[in-house]
Amino acid sequence: MPEPVITPLPRRCSECHETREPEEFSVEGVSRCKYCEAMQPEIERYADRQQQKKERLNDGLNRLVQASLGRGPNLPGVTEICQEMYGLFGDLKGFCAAWMADINQAKPGSKTRLEQYKLIVQLTQAAVAEQQAKLDIESATEEELEQATREYVLRIVNDQQGEGENVNIA
Ligand SMILES: [Zn+2]
Repeated sequence: MPEPVITPLPRRCSECHETREPEEFSVEGVSRCKYCEAMQPEIERYADRQQQKKERLNDGLNRLVQASLGRGPNLPGVTEICQEMYGLFGDLKGFCAAWMADINQAKPGSKTRLEQYKLIVQLTQAAVAEQQAKLDIESATEEELEQATREYVLRIVNDQQGEGENVNIA
């Protein structure tokens, strides 16, 4: 009786998930193909770089939080001031109504009145920039994202300080 010929079957690489011939694996039983094995040092270098980047970002954020927490205990955050002022005006609607009343009281064509128009145009420009910044997140570079994250964290820190909560960035 002839010996049965066992032909090793193609199998799937655990890394690239390609189905490959047995000779494309360096050793029988190894789950990664030869090509993925050769890529391994490069993959590890990339992972190291990502890790270092993450550590730098965390360092930066921690320093930022520490610096922010080092602020005098009696100084309110910017957001806090804004909230308090809007509250005193009777929220946003009240604030806008008071603003409008002042604009209406100013003489038509006066410098005071024109200044108000200029201000509203500037606010509109800021609003457009804010909207665009939100939309640009997908195309932003890593540096831009890091910067945006820092600013965002600082804002959160300021808000939370206003409410007397603990800051905890993992
Ligand atoms: Zn592979």
